[in-house]
Amino acid sequence: MEQVLIVIAVIAVLGVGGGAILLAPLVRSRRRPPPEPPEALPGRPSGSGLAGTVTREAPPAAEPGAVAEPGAPPAIPAERPPPSAGRMVRLRGRLARSQSALGSVLLSLLSSDRLDEQAWEEIEDTLITADMGVVPARQLVERLRTEVKVGGTRDLAELRALLRADLIEAIGPDMDRSLHTRRHGDRPAVVLMVGVNGTGKTTACGKLARALIGDGQSVLLGAADTFRAAAADQLQTWGQRVGATVVRSDKDGADPASVAFDAVSEGISRGVDTVIVDTAGRLHTKAGLMDELGKIKRVISKQAEVDEVLLVLDATTGQNGLRQARVFAEVVDVTGIVLTKLDGTAKGGIVVAVQRELGVPVKLVGLGEGPDDLAPFEPAAFVDAILGG
Ligand code: GDP
Repeated sequence: MEQVLIVIAVIAVLGVGGGAILLAPLVRSRRRPPPEPPEALPGRPSGSGLAGTVTREAPPAAEPGAVAEPGAPPAIPAERPPPSAGRMVRLRGRLARSQSALGSVLLSLLSSDRLDEQAWEEIEDTLITADMGVVPARQLVERLRTEVKVGGTRDLAELRALLRADLIEAIGPDMDRSLHTRRHGDRPAVVLMVGVNGTGKTTACGKLARALIGDGQSVLLGAADTFRAAAADQLQTWGQRVGATVVRSDKDGADPASVAFDAVSEGISRGVDTVIVDTAGRLHTKAGLMDELGKIKRVISKQAEVDEVLLVLDATTGQNGLRQARVFAEVVDVTGIVLTKLDGTAKGGIVVAVQRELGVPVKLVGLGEGPDDLAPFEPAAFVDAILGG
């Protein structure tokens, strides 16, 4: 009888241990458990993904034996997200719904019987209305006009091809849009996500973590948006779903820089590939924002390089979004733009305007509220969605 009880007890213990594997680890800032040894890194096959280079073969599950702290939300099994490559093409339908009006207006003007001064002006106005900006719209029209004149082109397919090429050119096909998310030696890559609250910043952190994990990398999330209490919970849910460790503070309104510091040191001790730090985007005063983001960046830099500062912008906010972009670019060195909610606007010209404004590329676009609706930005796929076909 005693032996039977021992066997039952052993089975029960093993069962609990197995269950813990499904839990995404949650680490409370400044109450960290002793560092765990870095994970062994399995072979890294070639493949294209967000980093544009090699990634790990299998997505990491939550570290065995890791246990969420008391009070953490119920465990949800870690999912295996799909890889990020080719998403823009797959999600083209989302863009087509909102952008095709722009494409069809442009094509019908171009193919009208009288391609006169007025028609060219209307083409320019259409591009400006789509938030492209006055100067880029004028440049595109001048170029197209010359091409049409020189080639004597009146065939719709040829006109479409010229417009397509000029739109791609305006977006900048040669800009480096790869994300720097690979470890350097024993340090993880660090991605700082900045932007005004409500733009989709926290969601972008979660979606990016999913995409990177889908590409075979390991990710840790730092909840340094301590201003908005729900942000850390939101991030934690994302982490639990995909098996990314989340470092957050015990108390609301904690110092975001100290959470960011803890997140990066946890990322180093756990040997993860990428640490993504969510920040609070209060545009209270430029000086306040500068202090906050400057401090976060400084404390992170004591341990690891900040590889990417991604500015999250809501594509539906037009000129207002551009103003926000300007303020952020003044206080921190933005390395790339995440343009969210492109599924909800017909004004895709914002891609050109914001790149021109900041001189940095749009690297990722948000195309919906689903967990995999974040795509590496591809100019040609974007233009094809606008023009249809
Ligand atoms: P934050 O305050 O900047 O962290 O914003 P959140 O991440 O909480 O997002 C604000 C809202 O925008 C949420 O309802 C998101 O689901 C929504 N959202 C984020 N990205 C996208 C997107 O690409 N498309 C759409 N349609 N909604 C989005």
